[in-house]
Amino acid sequence: MVRAIVGANWGDEGKGKLTDMMAQESDIVIRFQGGANAGHTIVNNYGKFALHTLPSGVFYDHTTNIIGNGVALNIPVLFNEIKSIVDKGVPMPKILISDRAQMVMPYHVLFDQYEEERLGKASFGSTKSGIAPFYSDKYAKIGFQVQELFDEENLRKKLVRVCETKNVLLEHLYHKPTLDPDALFETLMEYRKMVEPYVCNVSLYLWNALKEGKNILLEGQLGSLKDPDHGIYPMVTSSSTLAAYGAIGAGIPPYEIKTIVTVVKAYSSAVGAGAFVSEIFGEEADELRRRGGDGGEYGATTGRPRRMGWFDCVASKYGCRIQGTTDVAFTVIDVLGYLDKIPVCVGYEIDGKVTTDFPTTQLLEKAKPVLEVLDGWKCDIRGIRNYDELPENCKKYIEFVEEHIGFPITMISNGPKREDIIYRESKLYK
Ligand code: GDP
Repeated sequence: MVRAIVGANWGDEGKGKLTDMMAQESDIVIRFQGGANAGHTIVNNYGKFALHTLPSGVFYDHTTNIIGNGVALNIPVLFNEIKSIVDKGVPMPKILISDRAQMVMPYHVLFDQYEEERLGKASFGSTKSGIAPFYSDKYAKIGFQVQELFDEENLRKKLVRVCETKNVLLEHLYHKPTLDPDALFETLMEYRKMVEPYVCNVSLYLWNALKEGKNILLEGQLGSLKDPDHGIYPMVTSSSTLAAYGAIGAGIPPYEIKTIVTVVKAYSSAVGAGAFVSEIFGEEADELRRRGGDGGEYGATTGRPRRMGWFDCVASKYGCRIQGTTDVAFTVIDVLGYLDKIPVCVGYEIDGKVTTDFPTTQLLEKAKPVLEVLDGWKCDIRGIRNYDELPENCKKYIEFVEEHIGFPITMISNGPKREDIIYRESKLYK
């Protein structure tokens, strides 16, 4: 059985916590897309961790954690991350790395920086982890799969060929130092030593695991609105953030994905550039940012302050639909306990017309939020474990959101810890 955990919004919905929680009943946890450009924050018995590349199952000794072929694998970053958790007392996790995963090369990180520098104000707000240059090369068919590390002769030849084209850009477009294929080869040989014990034919491993009835968890990064096809293109990430892509980025049959838990955050936050219809500013935004998440809404990878906004029913309804949601996990609702009144965006006004259907990017730029204001509950709801014990106005908020997005909210997260979770039966459930 395969379950997926994915985000409905712009990322940072609290997927890490949900994955850590659901990993408890999983044999295998897989990262299937993205790279070290985003991070999950997990709080558990060992402490507080920001994971960027490692699957969130690494804290359990019964899980196998897999880096799937769809991931942008930065080998030194992965191994630093493993070291950082082991140094904090976590037992060495069981890890497998797909032989088909491609590697983030040192020059991908440089190209990311140089391009953002060149674009200046028109930049994408990249985290400069090399992700966009990495995926560009993957699809231009000049990327390097892990298995290529084991064929030295062909690796050398390919490096010479790739450096020829990279060096033209470095010299003439960016005016930066050029690449030396021999030095790169040495670096890759270091990478090989690091990954060798973990390399695996992952799709075959998973095929067998499925036959044995193992529980598999696909862990998504970012959210629907950052998907290159269905998101706010071009202000998106470079690999698909959708559960469907889990089949490809891990190498499993699509029909095996039975449960799609879409994480929806009780208010909005976003990083990077792009239209953000329900965005708020000034003191109102600062206060929500300060109180948000667990210790404020600042990027797990970059520490950048996140852009803040009210809950957006239009974006979340779309985000859930495009994921193929079976269950919504509604998170960080405890944070809203300080508000007397809570505005919610229920529609977009575009050229004088109100819609609840999320538009394409050009129209999105023109959209103005239609807000409805709900009453707050004005108390701390952390520690509550039963839905019925939540304050009336908090339940109204949850039910209002459920009605507007049209997908069943079956889990409510009211704190950063594993146990801060309320299960709920939804009337929307089939
Ligand atoms: P992810 O990328 O989707 O995993 O999101 P983040 O790592 O940015 O997680 C959001 C932050 O919120 C982290 O600091 C979590 O520890 C925290 N968090 C997750 N769920 C909850 C919740 O229900 N309440 C509160 N207050 N914080 C939460």
